[in-house]
Amino acid sequence: MRNKLGYKLKSVFVTVIVLLLFSSCGVAAEDYEGLRENMVNSQIISRGIKDEKVINAMLKVKRHLFVPKEYEKYAYRDQPLPIGYSQTISQPYIVAFMTEAAGLKLSDKVLEVGTGSGYQAAVLTEIVDRVYTIEILGPLARSAKQRLKKLGYKNIYVLCGDGYKGWPEEAPFDVIIVTAAPSEIPEELVKQLKEGGRMIIPVGSFFQELYRVSKKDGKIEKKGLLPVRFVPMVHGED
Ligand code: SAH
Repeated sequence: MRNKLGYKLKSVFVTVIVLLLFSSCGVAAEDYEGLRENMVNSQIISRGIKDEKVINAMLKVKRHLFVPKEYEKYAYRDQPLPIGYSQTISQPYIVAFMTEAAGLKLSDKVLEVGTGSGYQAAVLTEIVDRVYTIEILGPLARSAKQRLKKLGYKNIYVLCGDGYKGWPEEAPFDVIIVTAAPSEIPEELVKQLKEGGRMIIPVGSFFQELYRVSKKDGKIEKKGLLPVRFVPMVHGED
């Protein structure tokens, strides 16, 4: 009787340990692929994103490798997530929307302002040859650079600096994508946009609107696309 009880207790104990071990391992790699596919179908395609290049890029880039470990299992949810230093990685749909709105082609030279985790830059580089990205916070710029290197991206150039100044040495750009919100469209970024170029940028403070800014014959055309909510684009020290 005693032996039987002991045996039962032992097997319950072993089961609990096995369950604990499995649950602490998080989601298996192959499950992330499934979650990613689900995300693309239910959040991206179903909401009207049509560009095959964008859809393929969203299927390819492993968003769970761009968020802190504790948020990994939430990486394919329909929401932004914290990446430290009070900053966030954008909601997947917004990344796809901005990427599609830019109307990218392979040869485009692209500038991103607000590297954050490096996720948007990775999505962009699945579509174009060269991506230049600027991050104002040193630790985020460093970790994004390391992450992108580790993941094998060779054509993304990360600069730690103030995005209001753009990247004059590399200008002009065919496309500029800004992922933090200024209160007005920065003059210097307009200057660094090529003739015929497009800038996708959220503008405002609490209420923000995402704009597509096009440069034609030296003039700016501005089109409102979507109400959005981004972290503010901060000014660097001079
Ligand atoms: N694109 C990022 C998310 C952007 S969050 C991603 O895919 O993960 C916005 C980022 O813009 C933050 O990391 C913030 O530090 C940065 N930022 C804010 N003001 C900036 C500025 N003036 N120049 C460059 N980066 C800036």
